[in-house]
Amino acid sequence: EELYGVKRWGAGYFSIGDNGSIKITPNHRLPDVTIDMQEVMDEIIAEGIQLPAVIRFHDILRSQVEILNETFAQTIEDAKYNGKYVGVFPIKVNQMREVVEEIMDAGEPYNYGLEAGSKPELMAVLAYNENPNALTILNGYKDEDYLTLALLGRQLGRKMIIVIEKFSELEMLIPLAKKLGVEPMIGLRSKMMVRSSGKWAGSSGDRAKFGLSITEILNIVDLLKKEDMLHCAKLLHFHIGSQLSDIRKIKEAVSEGARLYAKLIQMGVPLEYLDIGGGLGIDYDGTSSTTDSSRNYSTEEYVADVVYGVKQICQLEDVPHPNLVSESGRAITAHHSCVVTNIVGEIKNTGAQFDITRAEGEHILVSNMRELITAADMHPQERYNDAASFKQSTYEAFKLGILSLEEMAKIDTMYWQILAEIHDSLDRETFVFQELEELEDMLASQYLCNFSIFQSAADTWAIGQVLPIVPITRLNEKPEVRCSIVDITCDSDGKLSKYIEGTEISDNIPMHTLRKGETYHVGMFLTGAYQDVMGDMHNLFGRLTEVHIYCHDDEDGDFYIEEVVPGTSAEKVLETMQYNTDYMAKTVKKWLDREVRKGKIAPREGVRWTDYYEKCLAGTTYLKV
Ligand code: PLP
Repeated sequence: EELYGVKRWGAGYFSIGDNGSIKITPNHRLPDVTIDMQEVMDEIIAEGIQLPAVIRFHDILRSQVEILNETFAQTIEDAKYNGKYVGVFPIKVNQMREVVEEIMDAGEPYNYGLEAGSKPELMAVLAYNENPNALTILNGYKDEDYLTLALLGRQLGRKMIIVIEKFSELEMLIPLAKKLGVEPMIGLRSKMMVRSSGKWAGSSGDRAKFGLSITEILNIVDLLKKEDMLHCAKLLHFHIGSQLSDIRKIKEAVSEGARLYAKLIQMGVPLEYLDIGGGLGIDYDGTSSTTDSSRNYSTEEYVADVVYGVKQICQLEDVPHPNLVSESGRAITAHHSCVVTNIVGEIKNTGAQFDITRAEGEHILVSNMRELITAADMHPQERYNDAASFKQSTYEAFKLGILSLEEMAKIDTMYWQILAEIHDSLDRETFVFQELEELEDMLASQYLCNFSIFQSAADTWAIGQVLPIVPITRLNEKPEVRCSIVDITCDSDGKLSKYIEGTEISDNIPMHTLRKGETYHVGMFLTGAYQDVMGDMHNLFGRLTEVHIYCHDDEDGDFYIEEVVPGTSAEKVLETMQYNTDYMAKTVKKWLDREVRKGKIAPREGVRWTDYYEKCLAGTTYLKV
């Protein structure tokens, strides 16, 4: 457990069972109801579901919705805060219909709503947020269609709040609303002065892409007054960035936002809601610190800072407490899904062996390396330096045509054998070896994993996000191999380069040796926010098959697969790139027919080849192993 940090990043949902398999406790209200991940894998395999697959634990999703809403409700009660909490889920974080439906269902008792940031998202939330008491917050840049669809929402009796990002949006909205005779609910997004830290620091400050400056907000207030529409201004919004790792930035933003709210109220703007945006972080790396992949606060602390922070400023400014809105996406969805897959091979430098027997008249470089093989009592640093230097000379000699391929293979075999011996002989406690990390990296195996980083873990590649990767079983066995995880795309960027090892982030990770005839399953966790929907089709690897899991409420750990959503077939992926797969199949058939006519292929064999090609078109884009 310590090695992979499961408990630390697991947030109470993930731990290791006595049988050495990942154990899931998906319902925060039922701590005795657990799921054994090995049993889930057995079921997936029994049902013939191809790996890699995304597993969604719907009970985790529901738990996260409940925890956030109940924490706000409890804190509001404790603080004797006069407003309510009416949160929204920003669907950009995970637009999967099943995810959005589950969130709406779990959030119904709390009037939990949705947020959209584009026209298609708006069309989705219009249809899926049917609760007239829940908010629909509309962010992002808008055109006339966007605004008209929002007004349609008002016609349906929904609390749709159009958040103005730019002055020109209001200039477009006012005549449109008047023409259609629909009264809009308007929000104002403020550009914040506080500078957040982390990967999304650009979401705040003067150069932020979104939001209105104080001057623009005042101009908007004037325009609304002039148009007799000031009563439509209902909400003040800010968002200083996602994955906020430092609670101090959140406190600062809350006090800046609350102060602005209070001043606007004092000017006569009838705001009812203060929307603090997203940003509630996730402890991906389990360090509870201010690294970009962690956070130095709990959800309770975050909520308390918001509620008490706003309350205090309202008291100081003598204004009513606003209803509080937050747009947490990552915190709601990250834990609920993981990617499970298998290791399909191992690439290791020490793997290939060549007969190193001395040959008559062999080159001096071969003999030198051989001497190092037997020099086990030599100082490890010196032995390492000599081996590295002979290896470099070998390369130079090969380029000059001095060494034969056999000699190269012998030197290579001996070189890796020496490095492995040096590594194994090092007593790390007592011996300082300068290049230890380099040596470990060189000797680490590469485990070839049946998935695409670009499809399933885009942020690990794009922004250096750490995601936990853990073997699903054998967690009660000591892992013997250090390795890195590489994917099956033909891109050298297709690898994970940061791993959780204890409380550290390492360049490689201990895993178990692969056993012949036994599948080694690994899981990549906390992928439910952004990773699920931002993946691309590099190398034409398509979306993964999805397995949706629910838990029975009894204590025997029983679960059921409620739905399997098939992954994208090769055919579908090709079609999105404008290929005509009928034409492709016909072309292959045409060439086969030609060979049949020439008598080179038997007619029946020709039919078999055609069928096979068509079957592969309909099949998975990943490795079938
Ligand atoms: N609201 C807005 C306006 C955003 O831009 C984002 C994402 O950056 C979110 C909410 C969701 O943020 P998070 O996933 O950090 O909760």
